[in-house]
Amino acid sequence: MGLMASINEEVAALLREYAELLGLTGGDMFRTRNYERAAKSVGGYPEDIGAIPDTALTKIPGVGSSIAGKIAEYRRTGTIKAVDDLRAEVPPGALLLAKVPGVGPRRALQIAGQLGVTSVGELDEAVRSGRLRSVAGFGPKSEERILRGIAVAVSDAALREALRALPDGATEDDIYAVLAAHVPTGAAGEREREHALVRGKDLRGDLHTHTDLTDGIVSLPGMIAAAEQRGYEYYAVTDHAPNLVMQRMTDEKMLAQRDQLRALAGSTGMTLLHGTELNIAPDGSVDWDEDFLSGFDICVASVHSSFEQDRATMTKRFVAAAENPRVNVIGHPLTRKIGRRPPVEADLDALYAACARTGTALEINASPDRMDLPPQHIAAAREAGVKFAIDTDAHSLVDLTHMPYGAAAARFGGLTSADVINAWPLGRLEEFLRKGR
Ligand SMILES: [Zn+2]
Ligand SMILES: [Zn+2]
Repeated sequence: MGLMASINEEVAALLREYAELLGLTGGDMFRTRNYERAAKSVGGYPEDIGAIPDTALTKIPGVGSSIAGKIAEYRRTGTIKAVDDLRAEVPPGALLLAKVPGVGPRRALQIAGQLGVTSVGELDEAVRSGRLRSVAGFGPKSEERILRGIAVAVSDAALREALRALPDGATEDDIYAVLAAHVPTGAAGEREREHALVRGKDLRGDLHTHTDLTDGIVSLPGMIAAAEQRGYEYYAVTDHAPNLVMQRMTDEKMLAQRDQLRALAGSTGMTLLHGTELNIAPDGSVDWDEDFLSGFDICVASVHSSFEQDRATMTKRFVAAAENPRVNVIGHPLTRKIGRRPPVEADLDALYAACARTGTALEINASPDRMDLPPQHIAAAREAGVKFAIDTDAHSLVDLTHMPYGAAAARFGGLTSADVINAWPLGRLEEFLRKGR
C-alpha cells in the first residue's frame, strides 16, 4: 500500500510539474489542462500504476497515448525527458515565484531570470529594496500587488499547512479543530451552546459538481453513482458555462447532457438536478439569456475572471448577479485559494444584503484548497439573513468526500440546518430555487 501510493504520487507530481512548466513557458492551455487533469487522476487512482501494463495505461481517466508514453518512460528510466528539458529552460525559482499571489507566470520568469530571485523571502527583499523597479514593466502598482500577495501567502500558510496535514477521511471534528486553531474567531462558540449546529449528516445533497464534460475527470454516470453511495436525496450537476472559454461548452453539449441526466433519473433513488456554473462577467451579467437559463433546475454563478476589480465595481458585479432571477447560488464567493490567491475586494455587507433580499444563497465551498466563503465571514452573513449552500465543487470522486470541510466551516460560523438550503427537504429547496417566481 505504501509503495503503491508512492509511485502514483511520484507520477502525479511529475505530471503536475509538467503542467506548471507548460503554463510558465507559454505552452498551449488545453495541453496544460490535460496534464493537470491527468495528474489529478493518477494521484487519486485506486490501483498501483506501477503494476499496470504499458498498453493498459490509457484506461486511467484523462490519460491518452502521449501521457501513457511518459508514464511508461518514467517506470522504465525513473525520469521523463520532456519534463527535464522544460526544467532546463526555466530559471531556478520561477516555478515557485509563479505561485505567489499577484505574480503570475510572465512576471515570475522575468524576476527569476533578471534578478536571480529564487524564494519568497528574496522576492520580498527585492521589492522593499526597490530592486524590482529595475525590471522593465514593474512600478509602484506591481510592488503593492506583490507585497499583498506575499502577505496572503504568509498569513494563510499555517492554515494551509494544517489542512494539508489532515489525513484522507479526516472527520468534521478534526477539521473544526484546525479552523478553531487557525481562523480568527467570530461569535461561533456562544451559539453552539444554544443551538443544534448543522453537521455533515444533515446534508441531503450536493449542489455544485462537475463531470468530464468540462474539467471534471469522471463521467456523469460515474459521479451520480458515487453521490448515491453517499446517501444523498438530491444531486446537482453544474458544469461550466461557455464564457469560460477553456471549457469549450456549447448550448448543444449542455442540452445533450440534460437529456442524458433525465434518462439516468429512473436508475437512481436520488432526484437529479440539471444545473450549470455560470461565469459572472465583469459587469455582473452571465453567460446565457433568461430563456436558456430557464431550462436549468439550478444555477450557480461564480467569478472566474477580473479578480482585481476595485471594491465598488466588484460589489456592483456581485449585486447584479444576485439580482438575476435565475442565479441561485454565488459559488466560491471571494474566489480565494488558501495561500495562493487573495480574496477579491468587495463590500461584504452589501453582498450579504443583496443575497438575503433576493433569495440567493452564498456557497460554502468545501474544497480544502478554497474554504470559501471563508469561515471567519460566515457568522456575519448569517446575521444578515443569508442562506448557504455547502458544496464540494467536485471534479473527481475524491472531491465528493470533502463535504466535512464545508460542514466544519458551517459549524464554525454557527449555522443550523435552517440556514443551509441543502439541509432542507427537496420541496423546500425547490421553492427556494424558484426565487419567488
Ligand atoms: Zn468555479
Ligand atoms: Zn465549480
